[in-house]
Amino acid sequence: MTDRLIVLGTGNANATRCYNTCFAIDTENGLLLCDAGGGSGILRQLEDASITWDRIHHLIVTHAHTDHLLGVVWVIRMVATWMNNGKYDGELHIYCHHTVRDGLIQMAKLTLQKKMIDRLDDRILFHTITDGHKEQMLGREVTFFDIRSTKMKQYGFTMPIAGGRTLCCLGDEPYNPECRAYVEGADWLLCEAFCLYGDRDRFKPYEKHHSTVKEACELAQGLHIPNLVLWHTEDKTIARRKQLYTAEGSAYYNGRLFVPDDLDVIELGGMLNFDNHDSRLRFVDLLLERDTLDNIPSAQLPEGYSFAFYRPGDRDQWIDIECSARELSSFEQGVKVWQEYYGSCENALDKRMLFIVNPKGEKVATATAYQLDDPDMGQVHWVAIRREEQGKGLARPLIAKVLEVMRDLGGKRAFLHTQTTTWVACRLYLQFGFHPTAESAEKHRDGWRIMRALTDHPALDGFEPAEMDTVLNQSDFGGKSC
Ligand SMILES: [Zn+2]
Ligand SMILES: [Zn+2]
Repeated sequence: MTDRLIVLGTGNANATRCYNTCFAIDTENGLLLCDAGGGSGILRQLEDASITWDRIHHLIVTHAHTDHLLGVVWVIRMVATWMNNGKYDGELHIYCHHTVRDGLIQMAKLTLQKKMIDRLDDRILFHTITDGHKEQMLGREVTFFDIRSTKMKQYGFTMPIAGGRTLCCLGDEPYNPECRAYVEGADWLLCEAFCLYGDRDRFKPYEKHHSTVKEACELAQGLHIPNLVLWHTEDKTIARRKQLYTAEGSAYYNGRLFVPDDLDVIELGGMLNFDNHDSRLRFVDLLLERDTLDNIPSAQLPEGYSFAFYRPGDRDQWIDIECSARELSSFEQGVKVWQEYYGSCENALDKRMLFIVNPKGEKVATATAYQLDDPDMGQVHWVAIRREEQGKGLARPLIAKVLEVMRDLGGKRAFLHTQTTTWVACRLYLQFGFHPTAESAEKHRDGWRIMRALTDHPALDGFEPAEMDTVLNQSDFGGKSC
């Protein structure tokens, strides 16, 4: 099952023609609600979206503005009532900054009956969040980040969604570049856009710490994010909002742009869900290049992990990592490959071959800044992460580091070879600003069309998404119904 974004409201604080911006993410493990709008309108929105109170066990409150917070008092009231009536199993977890928690508790005490307030700290539980704080919910790890608002403490968050993808909610203020590490690499960006850029004099978004369709689209384009949802808008143009905003946005952004109406449901999974090393996919070689080694995205290793360069004697550990990642099938093959590529340049590897060392001191990932005949061009070579260390956020820092090494050694451009069956890695390279080489765009056209279908990545705008029968391995296709 793919995850779904259920849009409960799309308006700014003063909107009267639609509800205030809030949403639910519906997963196979349950439902996450984010903000609740400015009042009892949340009851109507949930009812119209066919979401009953017993399904809501996780609620993120981004900040304390009226149009996000006051509906939460109604959520507490309704959930407490359902609990008291025996219609609600388990707990409601509310994630917010401690000032939001204090305000909510005060408001609840002021406005709700004692038997409802009794559920606070009993089965309605607050979790206070800080910058970088992580919480497990719905079987996923959600990471919160301070959006650096100058008005009020406000949090965005990122979370994994179905199909190995990531969703990032920016809250209701424009993106702050200090949050880049959290936002970069997202497949879905949920972003405010108060009005059209063309209407900026009429609606004055900048005075209100908001941005326009143009800026939001430029942001998503610049960060190579394939799917963008815009909301928290004015409501004076609502009858034609979808059409007008989409038209303006398409001039600045060539990913998939969504300008939802209240109660729209957006499928978050993309077209297909494949594993990151999936033999059901048809195999096609892919060659990518990056025209510059400037503007390398920054990415931090998780706590306790560090980088180390090659030291004589590391060969067997390199082979071991490559085997674990299924890049190689045996030690013997590893010895051969090592001899072929590195045998004649082992003395340069202490500046070019990188490892990631885990908290136990084990080498668990590797990549090499390989030197090609053209001295300006480096190759990202033999990238691998041990199977059990995958999914821990090592890939982005590894690629960033190997590009930095290349640049520091005087390289100007980068090149690499990958394939459709490791499409998640290929998507990461696209997110790092790599694009198909001219030769590959021509020769591996079907491969790029497969990547386009799998990722919707804006860098592949020139390729028609492949149909299902092209995406799947030919030997698998035909025998099975799909
Ligand atoms: Zn707002
Ligand atoms: Zn706000």
